[in-house]
Order: sequence, then C-alpha cells, then structure tokens
Amino acid sequence: MLESKFSANKRRQEYDYIIAGAGCAGLSLAVRMIHSGQFSNKNIVIIDKDHKQKNDRTWSFWETEPGIFEPVVYRKWKHTWFHSENFSHLLDPSPYEYKMIRGIDFYRYCFNIIQQHPNFEIRYGDIKSIVNENNTAAIHLNDEKITAEYVFSSLLLEKPVLKKNDYYLLRHFKGWIIETAIPVFNPTEATLMDFRTGQQHGTTFVYVKPFSETKALVEYTLFTEKLLEPSQYDAGLNDYIRRFLKIESYKITEEEFGIIPMTNYKFPAVDGRIVNIGTAGGQTKASSGYTFRFIQKHSARIVENLIKRGNPFIALPGGPPRFKFYDSTLLHILTHNKLPGDKIFTRLFKKNKPQQVLRFLDNESSFGDELKIISSLPTWPFLKAAFKQL
Ligand SMILES: Cc1cc2nc3c(=O)[nH]c(=O)nc-3n(C[C@H](O)[C@H](O)[C@H](O)COP(=O)(O)OP(=O)(O)OC[C@H]3O[C@@H](n4cnc5c(N)ncnc54)[C@H](O)[C@@H]3O)c2cc1C
Repeated sequence: MLESKFSANKRRQEYDYIIAGAGCAGLSLAVRMIHSGQFSNKNIVIIDKDHKQKNDRTWSFWETEPGIFEPVVYRKWKHTWFHSENFSHLLDPSPYEYKMIRGIDFYRYCFNIIQQHPNFEIRYGDIKSIVNENNTAAIHLNDEKITAEYVFSSLLLEKPVLKKNDYYLLRHFKGWIIETAIPVFNPTEATLMDFRTGQQHGTTFVYVKPFSETKALVEYTLFTEKLLEPSQYDAGLNDYIRRFLKIESYKITEEEFGIIPMTNYKFPAVDGRIVNIGTAGGQTKASSGYTFRFIQKHSARIVENLIKRGNPFIALPGGPPRFKFYDSTLLHILTHNKLPGDKIFTRLFKKNKPQQVLRFLDNESSFGDELKIISSLPTWPFLKAAFKQL
C-alpha cells in the first residue's frame, strides 16, 4: 500500500478524525464513513505501523444478507457440519450463510476506496501514545504530535489489568491451506466445529473451509489459558487430516497462526475524545473470539451517531449487558473446568435450531431464544457459575 500523495511538508497536524490502526476496525469505519457520503468535508487520517500487504488472517462469520464487504467475500457456504464424539449433523442455518474474507483482499479493497477520497490521508508509523487534551485528542507518532476532534483507536497500547471475576482465555489456532492431487472435499459444505479431535489440552476443535474439491483451510483451534508448543498444533492438524478427512497425501500452501483474547475484562469503550474500536473497544465476543460482525455493527452505529448527533458516543457499545453475563458465565465454566467445552457446544447444536444458536452467538437472540438455549444446557453447573457472576 502506497503512502498517500501528501508530501511530508504539506502534512497537517490537525484533523477532524484520526483513525489509529488500519486493521479490520479502522478500515471498516473509514469505508462506512465513505459509503455514507456524509464525511467529505472532514479531514481524516488513518495511521498504521504496518503496510498491510500480507494475507495475515482470514475472517469467518455468518450473515443473513450481503454486508458492505460482500464484494470481497472469498467463499461462502449454506451448509456447515457440526461434529462431536456422539453427534454429527449437517446444519442448514438458512437464511444465514457462513462467509469467509481473506485479510489481503479486505485491505486492498478498503485502501482502494479510501485512496479515491482526497479528504482521507494514510500515514505510516508507530503510535507511541494517545492522550486527551482540552477539547481534542492527540497522538504521538514518531516525533510528531497530531491532534483531532476524535481519535478512533484499535490499538492495544496497555495490557488489561484483570479484576476479580475477570477471566482471560485465549482462542489460539493454527491453520493450513492444503491441496490434494485428487478431489476429496465437497466445496458446498464447510465444517463449523469438529470436536472429535482429542480434548486433552482443553476445549479443542477443528474447522474446515473447502475452497474447491482439492483445496481447503483446516484450522486447529483451542480455547485455553496457555498456548501449545508449535509442534503440538502441527500434530493436531496432521492427525485430524489423516483420521477424519482421510487424506494421506497433501501439500501445505499457506499457514496461519492467531491468538484472540476471550475475556470478560471491560475494555474501555471511550476515554474523553478517544473512542476505542475493534478488539481494543471490546468488540471481541468473550465466549467465542468472533469479532468481525461485532466490528461491523459497532462501526455502523458510530457512523450513524456522528451523522445524527455529531458525536461518536453510542449507548451500550458492547451490546445488551445480559450477553456479557452469559459470556462471563461460560468463561467461568471453561476456566474452572466445570464442564468440557465440547459437551456444551454439542448440547447447544443438538438441542436448538442452528439459527437460534447463531443469533445467540451474535448477541442478536430474543429473550425467548435465550431461555430455550439456557434450558438446553446442564442446569446445575450453569446456575452455580451464573450465581458467581452476580
Ligand atoms: C489470525 C486471526 C484470525 C482471525 N479470524 C477471525 C475470524 O475468522 N472471525 C472473527 O470474527 N474474528 C477473527 N479474528 C479476530 C478479529 O476479527 C481480528 O483480530 C480483527 O483483525 C480485529 O480487528 P482490529 O481492528 O481490532 O485489530 P487489527 O485488525 O489487528 O488492527 C489493529 C491495527 O493496529 C495497528 N497497530 C497496532 N499497534 C500500533 C501502533 N503502536 N502504531 C500504529 N499502528 C499500530 C496494527 O498494525 C493493525 O493494523 C481473527 C484474528 C486473528 C489474529
């Protein structure tokens, strides 16, 4: 990605908005501002330390209709498998579709749109700090201070300090894109979760996203407190590919490794004129690690508020509080090993309609849905864990 055309000596030091971090949240916000057509009179700078030239992640999420990033959806599946030791089911979550976007396609698409708007500037550098000053917010970038009316930050500059009843698990995963010489995959069916892989390290599952009959992303995923040794992820992937996909010979063409915090720590949504977005703004679902859809909803609401009210301060940026309570309860159960994660997810998918479960995981379920879901789970451990959160 080329730095924008502004030469150093013409650069401003005051903007209307600074978008600190050009990742999923920063770029989603910028593109939504542009789509709205209401921000052409604002000077906006997007700053990142990285040029975003690598396919550093893939995002999967489910949606009932095309979102604004539909043009870069790489693959989508109407049907997904759920497997565990004693239960296998092909889910038909219509109207939901399970979609996947490649990081590199997303970054290119967003920068291409942004570069067509001269009121947006793109700059590169390591942001050292973000502070409030009188009626502005300021960032320190290299030796420069840049100010704006608001800073939208997806930077995690400080490590969260956990309090009592705050849990911090990791969703960590290693994925391989593999290719086979003969057709082995059904490209119309993905695997959302397969718990048949061993649970000796804690809650562990594999998901499979087939791109064609001979190519798929296979991802070995854990929800635990500690990371594994690198060789253990490889062993997990190898074992799954041989035992469950029944593939003996394959070529690894790409690798992905990621860690997503699964925590009920309350990331500050706003600090004066600094508005936190993305994972740093609490948009990662604590009990699943899913973030992409939450970022989309959050950035849409920020843009809507800026247009309607002239400020970005939205009520309940983390969604209705009851969902935080459900997340904390599940984190308590997983952290204290009160119930194995594979049993919980099996119950969820065995006893409820997939649409209900997906709405619940997206914090979009009705209270009726939630009662049904809660009653499908083992009552006593959940009741005790819920009581501890109150
Ligand atoms: C490998 C991987 C796969 C994932 N897959 C999924 C998925 O399938 N579905 C899902 O819902 N979620 C997924 N997530 C979780 C989440 O969606 C992503 O982490 C998402 O990118 C979060 O968006 P963000 O904008 O908060 O952070 P990022 O996208 O990480 O953006 C933050 C940006 O800030 C920049 N930055 C950081 N510090 C500084 C600094 N000091 N100065 C300047 N710039 C800085 C970084 O370079 C980065 O570009 C995944 C995460 C990872 C890591």
